[in-house]
Amino acid sequence: MRRPMFLEELKEELRKDGLEFAEDEVVAGMRVHIAFPKERLAVFVSLCSEGCGCPEHYEALQPAEEAAPSENPWGKAPTACQARLERETHRLEDAKWKVMRFWEHDVDRDIDAVVDEIRLALEDLQYQASGQA
Ligand SMILES: [Zn+2]
Repeated sequence: MRRPMFLEELKEELRKDGLEFAEDEVVAGMRVHIAFPKERLAVFVSLCSEGCGCPEHYEALQPAEEAAPSENPWGKAPTACQARLERETHRLEDAKWKVMRFWEHDVDRDIDAVVDEIRLALEDLQYQASGQA
C-alpha cells in the first residue's frame, strides 16, 4: 500500500524523538495510523483531500452548503463522513483510548508542533496512569 509521505515523515520524527509506537494497529475494529498501546493513544493523520476533507481545505473540496452552528468544527452541517469519524472516536474512547487527529497541512506547516503535541499527550497519559497505580 502506498503511504502518504507526510505520514512517513511524522513517524520518522517521532522515532527520532525516541517515541515507540505501533503502525496500523487495529483498535476497536479501526486501523490506527500511529498507536501507543501502553498509553492507549491513537493518532490519525489524514490527507486534506481524503475522506471528509480538512476544515481548512474542505470548502475547496465540497460544494457550498448553508452555514452550520459555530460549535461544529467544520463550520458546516456534519456530513455522513464526519458523523462516521465521530462514531469512530467514540468507539475508541469507549475502549479507553484517547484520540488525536491531525491533517496533512498540520504536518506540512509545523511537524515539530505535531510531535510536541503528541509527546505532551503521552506524558499526560503516563502521569494519569501513575496517579491511578
Ligand atoms: Zn488542510
